[in-house]
Amino acid sequence: MPDCSSFTCSPAPLTRPARFARWMRDHSSLIRRIQWGVVAVYLFLIIVPALRPLPDDHARILNDLTTFAQFLFWGIWWPFVLVSMLLIGRSWCGVFCPEGALSEWASQHGRGGAVPKWAKWGGWPFVAFCLTTIYGQLVSVYQYPKAALLVLGGSTVAAMAIGLFYGKGKRVWCRHLCPVSGVFGLLAKLSPVYMRVDRQRWQHTSTGRVIPINCAPLVDIRRMQGASDCHLCGRCAGHRDAVELVARRPNAEITSASSPTPSAWELVLLVYGLLGVAIGAFQWTNSTWFIAAKQGMAEWLIERDILWPLNDNAPWWLLTHYPERNDSFSWLDGGMIVAYILAVAIILGSWILLWLTISAACQQGPLKDRLLRTSDTLIPMAACGVFLGLSALTASLLKAEHLSMLWLGPTRAALLGLATLWSAWLLWKQTQPQPMIHRILAWLAVSPAWAGVLYSWILLFWLW
Ligand code: SF4
Repeated sequence: MPDCSSFTCSPAPLTRPARFARWMRDHSSLIRRIQWGVVAVYLFLIIVPALRPLPDDHARILNDLTTFAQFLFWGIWWPFVLVSMLLIGRSWCGVFCPEGALSEWASQHGRGGAVPKWAKWGGWPFVAFCLTTIYGQLVSVYQYPKAALLVLGGSTVAAMAIGLFYGKGKRVWCRHLCPVSGVFGLLAKLSPVYMRVDRQRWQHTSTGRVIPINCAPLVDIRRMQGASDCHLCGRCAGHRDAVELVARRPNAEITSASSPTPSAWELVLLVYGLLGVAIGAFQWTNSTWFIAAKQGMAEWLIERDILWPLNDNAPWWLLTHYPERNDSFSWLDGGMIVAYILAVAIILGSWILLWLTISAACQQGPLKDRLLRTSDTLIPMAACGVFLGLSALTASLLKAEHLSMLWLGPTRAALLGLATLWSAWLLWKQTQPQPMIHRILAWLAVSPAWAGVLYSWILLFWLW
């Protein structure tokens, strides 16, 4: 360790991650070229399939562009973007995300207005995630290219419009409004790398000329703690000799008492969003409860001679409408899908919140702080669930290729088991400073929440 008591010491040799981040900083034009390359692939994948006729029953990944794009986009790209958050933080956002790159580019040429108050509302990540997830189900975003173009293209246009109006070379969209930014921020808490800011060094190395950093997602770099907000673009690497990319234990941010307390909106996004709305959205197509409720409702309507909800005449951009594929949602379908997803979110989310609160009450310290910190321990289960839900499409596309899927069930079970053990371990480590009896009670109290989440996935993958 260098002696930095006077802050005139020579810095310690740079670690490999720190050197890599500085290399990124010094090769920003290469990163920009990568971003434009991803933009080109992204636009091709969302636009070209939407202009082609729907694939027939013989279409396969390797002989049909639309099916290939569907597999690449939803089967590989999205699930593994989520996994990348756990492995390399939000590098996806800072280096590869086409929407972020386009929003920043638009902002460079836009009006440059101040970020409005409404955009800074802390609930946007939750609301945007829920609305996009539910709307995606209504228009069958994973199945139909036109729907994918509408949802993803609409989001990209909105990101560019926000860029045109607000910020100068910034990513106001990514910071405040992106539907998955909050989710990525939660998952990045488990990242084994992050940008560490040495506050003391920052204050004491300001003698020379300090070059301002353009942090596109508007992070307050000086006060930055943790990996949630940083897009790991590398631009601030080495700034004031105080900011470096460093490796850490993946559990550190959640188990350390010195980490910032999560916000209430982060809890809501985790409990009612990732562990509620997302599970409901993945579940409804297979749910026997959904089918029974829909049949019951249809009979109820028919008995009263209310027949219009049974029509399937909604346009494709409102409800799935592909008569040539015998796939059209009636108004009743649409209403029931929304009701089912919201019911799962409210019931499962409230169940989880109840046991988290009881667990927090079993611990010493302010209840709100304990509750918010305890909720973070569920991130591995939430991440695993979303990955399994998204990769269900990967599995069904591979099944259509006649690939053996015998490994699928055991792999799913193993991942769910490991994620639960990880969450349990996080809680155990997080409560380490507490007396043993408090730790045990807190741990036991949260176990019904784990059981609720596991049961939801068991229903979907094995019982229905
Ligand atoms: S703090 Fe900002 S500038 Fe620094 S790496 Fe993160 S996103 Fe880039």
